Amino acid sequence: MLDWKGIVGIAYTPDEFDSYAHALTWTAWRPSFIVLHNTASPTLAQRPNGFTKQHILNLESFFRDKQKWKAGPHLFIDDKQIWAFTPMTMSGVHSPSWNKVSLGFEMLGDYDKDEFDSGRGLRVQKNAVAAVATMSAVLGLNPDSMKLHKEDHLTTHACPGKKVVKSKFIDKVKELLAERHGGEHLDPVSS
Ligand SMILES: [Zn+2]
Repeated sequence: MLDWKGIVGIAYTPDEFDSYAHALTWTAWRPSFIVLHNTASPTLAQRPNGFTKQHILNLESFFRDKQKWKAGPHLFIDDKQIWAFTPMTMSGVHSPSWNKVSLGFEMLGDYDKDEFDSGRGLRVQKNAVAAVATMSAVLGLNPDSMKLHKEDHLTTHACPGKKVVKSKFIDKVKELLAERHGGEHLDPVSS
């Protein structure tokens, strides 16, 4: 489709992603916050080895040819890697109220059912925390500005599942940012 924005289609480790993201230049568009999603379908069990390149190409075909959207979410994050999908320097399609102002990150799993604090779910969580920390640093975003898809009043999706607790996730992002910046506290610890 002519209007499709294309995909990056490259998998990064969290460290590689950090380097990749710091090298991006923001000319046309600059997102103001991050929206966190989970795929729900597929579940973790349906992707025993995470996403393959073919899965990512299938997702591209789904959004472009079936949904007939101009773009999709910006990242697909699994327990092994961070897949760059719609370029983060362009607006994506993932959350009706917030497409023009936010980045959309999809985590592999259905966290109504899949465990988020152990096993593969925890590894997905760690990669997602790393991606949010990186983009918060790159864009100068306060981690508290992050949103869950289900906070968008225009969506009917209970996304991500209830095992993803926003405050706990944001705390982990802040911890990682503090670690990466030599233990310097970016935000005072509130009582
Ligand atoms: Zn969602």
